[in-house]
Amino acid sequence: MSITAYGALRSHGAGTLGTADVGATVTVAGWVQSRRDHGGVAFLDLRDRSGLVQVVADPEASEALEAAHRVRTEWVVRVTGTVRARPEGMVNDKLATGAIEVAATAIEVLSEADTPPFPIEDGIEVSEEVRLKHRYVDLRRPRLARNLRTRAQVVSVIRQVMERHGFIDVETPQLTRPTPEGARDFLVPARLQPGTSYALPQSPQLFKQLLMVAGIERYYQIARCFRDENLRADRQPEFTQLDLELSFADEEDVYGLMEELFAEVWREVLDVELPLPFPRLTFGESMRRFGTDKPDLRYGLELAHLDEVFADTQVGVFKGVLDAGGSVVALAVPGGSELTRREFDNWTEWAKRRGAKGLAWAVVEAPSGGSDVPALRSPLTKHMSDAEVAGVIATCEAEVGDAIFFGAGTTRFARALMGALRVELAQDRGLVQTSGPDGGEWRFVWIVEPPMFDPADESDDPTAATAQGWVPNHHPFTSPAPEFIDDFEQRPGEATTRAYDIVLNGVELASGSVRIHDAELQRRVFRFLGVSDEAAEEKFGFLLRGFGYGVPPHCGIAPGLDRIVMLLTGEDSIREVIAFPKTQSGGDPMTEAPAPYDEVSLRDLGLRLAPKPASG
Ligand code: ASP
Repeated sequence: MSITAYGALRSHGAGTLGTADVGATVTVAGWVQSRRDHGGVAFLDLRDRSGLVQVVADPEASEALEAAHRVRTEWVVRVTGTVRARPEGMVNDKLATGAIEVAATAIEVLSEADTPPFPIEDGIEVSEEVRLKHRYVDLRRPRLARNLRTRAQVVSVIRQVMERHGFIDVETPQLTRPTPEGARDFLVPARLQPGTSYALPQSPQLFKQLLMVAGIERYYQIARCFRDENLRADRQPEFTQLDLELSFADEEDVYGLMEELFAEVWREVLDVELPLPFPRLTFGESMRRFGTDKPDLRYGLELAHLDEVFADTQVGVFKGVLDAGGSVVALAVPGGSELTRREFDNWTEWAKRRGAKGLAWAVVEAPSGGSDVPALRSPLTKHMSDAEVAGVIATCEAEVGDAIFFGAGTTRFARALMGALRVELAQDRGLVQTSGPDGGEWRFVWIVEPPMFDPADESDDPTAATAQGWVPNHHPFTSPAPEFIDDFEQRPGEATTRAYDIVLNGVELASGSVRIHDAELQRRVFRFLGVSDEAAEEKFGFLLRGFGYGVPPHCGIAPGLDRIVMLLTGEDSIREVIAFPKTQSGGDPMTEAPAPYDEVSLRDLGLRLAPKPASG
């Protein structure tokens, strides 16, 4: 015996029936999507994973009709009957099975159901709390069911591409030592060794590097990662990566592999041909032009730097910032002169909420008074020289009818502010449509040559406190660029690495790097980060010892599966593509995890939970 196509309880999938089946006796089973009871005759829409079919019960089969009177939505039933063409005028073109119906001879109730918390239909607004509490009902809705199928399809394509190139799937431990990726660890107390704890891996990073030492050469894994950090729409405490590593290879191998992989996924899932290769942008250029290392290239609105234009300015706010070594960064909005005074004020308030002192603005007007240079109308212009006005317009490449916004502060702050404004304005001005299964643009870009370190005081990396002023921009196993290997300690603010990210439409999809494969260089990086040789030995001795036994040059990358599927399905949160996700506060309303632990088990683990801090 082998498995039947629809399970032994059924002969067909509800959504597979059509005019070719007319006259056949079939058995279908599924959930009652809806019921229309006209007394003498009752109609049920029956739903299974293949789709919907209409079932008719009439007095000729009185037991079936009686059962049809009794059933309610979401009951699970099994129907035997004959497929017949629907009468003229009753054909439903919107339904794949709309030309036929099943005339029931028997209806068997397999299970009754409580009234569902919300209708099983797309497009119905339901609070996330209610959706997640009844996720099993939520997942019956077509959109979510489709998202899970797309996810499985993506994984299947990934496996094909990886295996085509000789990568093998190797599992790595979930109960392990901390792997630093810039987040906090989830800890699991070890009962058998009181006073100790496992950490859940933030990534398989250390193990995949040791697999390279082991001679596996090409490793991949659809890996679950755990990071305890503040949640956002595109973050979850546990998430899934395609994790991979390869030996005797460099950046170009990774670029080629990833481009082939993404092209194949987009072709298989969306039937879209991605233009290859993906463009490359250095981190520095991306920050300068877009104010972020995750640029959305579907629209322009590039940032303009006005430090030279305002080098001798009398505009007080700009002068103060420039004298202190900061920057004035501007952004021209095509057609922005139609913004109302109130809208300009709202943007200023928006900037203040992000920590700016304000947000200056100006409108570009036609030249007047015999001049051929357009004019700027703005609360600021009275202090601006003609040369500055001309310089602003030229540097921003602005035209009459545009608006210009100005942000000022430290260079880092001004760029980040204006980069965020760029994204908000593009949304607000309708410059960007959501990309997804129904179309839209796919602008992939490699971001390369990132800095080796970020200033620790701007980081939420939990190791920042001990990091002597700097934290790794990627992770501490990333190779410095060759020209910084000898002296990155002397110029940490300048040093770059051989790391790379893939960004798609403003979303970071993958990060990776060429790794350090020299134990002494690795120790120097740790030392620079404030990890003494003893501490490095204690935390990462197994890696460093491994390096002592012959380590090939190696590199890798890890694309985030949840984000890839989110973009492919046109969703705006990864929660829509994860079967059982957690809320923004890290809870699961269905299982009510995390939950208090019982005293006995805690004692067994040698633990006592501190009481919840009193609020207020
Ligand atoms: N382990 C890194 C991460 O999870 C990715 C990589 O460098 O391969 O972010």
